Amino acid sequence: MTEYTLPDPVVQTEGARELARDLVVIPNRGVQLVPNIGVIGGTHSVLVVETGMGPGNAGTVLKFAADYAGGRTLYLTTTHFHPEHAFGAQAFTGAAAFLVNKAQAEDLATKGPGYLGMFRGLGEPVARQLEGVELAIPDIVYDTSYDLDLGGRVVRLRATGRAHSKGDQVVTVPDAEVMFTGDLAETGQFAIFPWFPPHDTDVSGIRWIEVIRRLAAAGPRVVVPGHGDIGGPRLLADVRDYLQLLRDETWVRRDSAMSEETIVEEVRALMIERHPEWAGREWIDKGVGCLCSEHAAV
Ligand SMILES: [Zn+2]
Repeated sequence: MTEYTLPDPVVQTEGARELARDLVVIPNRGVQLVPNIGVIGGTHSVLVVETGMGPGNAGTVLKFAADYAGGRTLYLTTTHFHPEHAFGAQAFTGAAAFLVNKAQAEDLATKGPGYLGMFRGLGEPVARQLEGVELAIPDIVYDTSYDLDLGGRVVRLRATGRAHSKGDQVVTVPDAEVMFTGDLAETGQFAIFPWFPPHDTDVSGIRWIEVIRRLAAAGPRVVVPGHGDIGGPRLLADVRDYLQLLRDETWVRRDSAMSEETIVEEVRALMIERHPEWAGREWIDKGVGCLCSEHAAV
């Protein structure tokens, strides 16, 4: 998938930042394959959002969260099953109840092993972090909606339906107006389309647009993306506008029966012109491929 060796995806808790009362984010510092990680407290419980990649990183996160919790009950949730978000959950066994939506639990069980193999091929540092990974079985599985009472603070867990993956989940803290989007939104990079036919074709550009429109309309004050800097409502609007433009520019060419190769070339050039500062240009091609396939389905 990549020709170069990715940097070691190490979670560093030193830069943890308080976004609101009793709500901390361990930022990814722009390191690829490190997610933004949330720690959200109430009077009797604390929820951790994302594990980091592999048991070593997750152990670091657990230590930080346990210190932070100071005896409060720990919960863990993940926004989706991808390795840097969920492949550390085993480290929390016995220390925290692992809580996810049903579609995500199914993704982890059915697609986890394939992703483990794929990510081990991304270079030595990534393979090392994935050593000893055993895919955890969630303790609590909900269908589409779960309100977790942390004591004086209720956190909303909502399955969005298929978008970036089949099992995406968004975590919202209403009293602080903070939303954790996972990879439904990123700062400073093109939307990640894990479009790998024939192995993985779960990502849906059409559904993603619907989901991001809903999230943008909810108007959170603070948005914690899967990767990149913490932002505000503008971040969701930027992702929405990008996905809509990607769809429109792809489909208008598809209508003219242009070859997919030419569509990819033209749309990629347009999107780079629009967002020259964004990273992850390879994801434009994947997005166009996904939307080409969805055009046929309309
Ligand atoms: Zn992802």
